[in-house]
Amino acid sequence: MQQEQTFVMVKPDGVRRGLIGSIVARFEQKGFALAAIELLQIDRELAEQHYGELRQKPFFGELVDYLTSGPVCAMVWQGEHAVENARALIGKTNPVEAAPGTIRGDYAMDIAGNIVHGSDSAASAAREIGLFFGKHAAAQRMDPYAGEFGHGG
Ligand code: GDP
Ligand code: MG
Repeated sequence: MQQEQTFVMVKPDGVRRGLIGSIVARFEQKGFALAAIELLQIDRELAEQHYGELRQKPFFGELVDYLTSGPVCAMVWQGEHAVENARALIGKTNPVEAAPGTIRGDYAMDIAGNIVHGSDSAASAAREIGLFFGKHAAAQRMDPYAGEFGHGG
């Protein structure tokens, strides 16, 4: 099976509200393997780099304020079609439109506080993993479903 990695981040409101465990649980239950995790306070420079493509948006300043308002939980999750599977689990950007059962659908009310980030493509994932984990490369994990007692392989 093709293994892919994606970058996921519990944003400061998710950390403040004690939702790291619930979010991690959803990724594990879905079938992802955790490849890296770190709780960190990011500075404005990293927040601006992370959301660089949104620099021209009117809400960019507010977005950087939000992302630097407290610690975030940065993670790398691995699995088949990890980028697309993570985006499906997270739900639509605006929690108003995010379906119940998705993370944003279940835990968030407002687009300015949508509690979690997931990379939108394999290229974004590689860029974001590099930004947050740098030379500390994420672990390469086995497909949790594969192996002697699993269905995969
Ligand atoms: P995502 O990939 O689903 O997170 O969505 P985008 O890449 O389009 O936007 C990145 C983040 O910017 C979103 O997750 C929100 O936190 C924030 N954002 C997007 N649109 C708005 C908006 O209209 N107002 C505010 N305050 N934040 C927004
Ligand atoms: Mg995005």
